[in-house]
Amino acid sequence: MTTSEDSYLILGAGIFGVSTAYHLLQSHPTASITLIDRDAFDADSRVAASWDWNKVVRADYADITYCRLALEAQDIFNNDPLWQPYFHETGVYWVCRDEYAQDVVGNYKKLGRKAEIAAHPLDEAKRMYGGLFEQADYTDAREVLVNRTSGWAAAGDCLRAVTRWIIERGVKYVQADVERLAFDGEGSCVGVRTKTGEEIRGSKVILSTGAFTAKLLEVSAAATGKEHLRAGPRIVAGGIATGMVTLDETSYEKFAKMPVGFQGYSADKGPFLGTLPPTPEKQLKWWGRTIFSNTQEVLPGRFVSAPPTDQDYAQWKVSKKLEDDVRYSARMFYGAPTATWKFEKLRICWDAFTPTGDFIISPHSGAKGLYVATCGSFHGFKFFPVVGKYVVQMLDGTLDADLKHKWAWDRTAEQLDSTVNPEFPRSEMSDMLDAAPMAKL
Ligand SMILES: Cc1cc2nc3c(=O)[nH]c(=O)nc-3n(C[C@H](O)[C@H](O)[C@H](O)COP(=O)(O)OP(=O)(O)OC[C@H]3O[C@@H](n4cnc5c(N)ncnc54)[C@H](O)[C@@H]3O)c2cc1C
Repeated sequence: MTTSEDSYLILGAGIFGVSTAYHLLQSHPTASITLIDRDAFDADSRVAASWDWNKVVRADYADITYCRLALEAQDIFNNDPLWQPYFHETGVYWVCRDEYAQDVVGNYKKLGRKAEIAAHPLDEAKRMYGGLFEQADYTDAREVLVNRTSGWAAAGDCLRAVTRWIIERGVKYVQADVERLAFDGEGSCVGVRTKTGEEIRGSKVILSTGAFTAKLLEVSAAATGKEHLRAGPRIVAGGIATGMVTLDETSYEKFAKMPVGFQGYSADKGPFLGTLPPTPEKQLKWWGRTIFSNTQEVLPGRFVSAPPTDQDYAQWKVSKKLEDDVRYSARMFYGAPTATWKFEKLRICWDAFTPTGDFIISPHSGAKGLYVATCGSFHGFKFFPVVGKYVVQMLDGTLDADLKHKWAWDRTAEQLDSTVNPEFPRSEMSDMLDAAPMAKL
């Protein structure tokens, strides 16, 4: 239950944190809402996974719950003047190696949704979009799903605009590095302690700290002796390298009207690959084929996957091995000519992954007053306009029973099984670093 005294302290100004504040403003207009992040919301470079040049916005999900939620979000991207400028309805072109296309088309039907969406035979698909994906890899492919109503969003610009909007309407934004959670004598979470020793309080503390979440809980558990705070196998921080090339005038003509491209695989082959249409600066982006954890000793004898300890998560330090990994993906979409493409930008993006790819939106059972709303698991951005609505329902105790179960902190054995999730990190960052040069004798 929400009372008039409730003060909400949201840690992390990525899409989960900002969307929560956005919906709290509307449903609890008199509440005090504070958003804390280590980076300024309008900084030129941020560690948030949500801060990016662009992200795919699609409702093409085999899971009907995410399909429905993504459609709800897309309606807002399409119609609400706050969100609409950032959405580009370019369509998606998805090379399918299983029943994915049929499942997605079926979900649209079940939800009574009309859209220009269909599965195409390979030969027909290769001729679409001026033959842009003719040289893609179609090994084991069955068909291509084309949904002309999906697309992408200018992610960083959208995040900045919505954050500015909520600040103008009363949300307090504090730039601070949170060291650990703070508790009262009865064990309830009452706020946070920052790295500079300041204590910031709130009656409801919401963790939306993305890839840093497991480490923050580990450090908080060690400092307080509250063992049950730890994330354990629920959350794994994972990194993925992305690359961008600037297209010359002639190539830009060819790519300008392209859809988002996907290569889908089963869990034993690897995560899905994606490539996004060029930005206004004519930069074409895609991500690599390896999702890696970064297991480190965060405290003596305690090992947790977390981003590198550098203030900027070392996100711009991309090894040659990871560059090759990104180049491999380009070939899977555009064939041999990509061998000579020069990368303009390379970045490692860190997100929090759960074994099944389901978010965690739940009270934390280890402490009263503590809530978790994060774990985008490589697909969270598109829910930005709506995810906070569900976080508020969770905080108010009104979340639908199915969603409560799907996003619970306390997970069943099935929910901790990652075997069928192609996107779960299966490599270690240490394996993706370049070998140190041999000493010359
Ligand atoms: C390469 C890549 C591509 C992706 N592509 C897509 C896509 O195309 N479409 C899509 O829908 N999704 C995509 N995703 C997933 C999506 O970006 C994430 O799931 C989502 O942005 C996560 O949001 P978040 O709010 O949980 O975390 P974040 O956006 O990471 O935000 C967490 C915030 O917490 C702050 N923070 C953490 N710890 C502390 C601390 N101790 N003190 C203070 N502040 C702290 C950070 O500074 C950060 O701002 C992609 C992810 C990656 C990695």
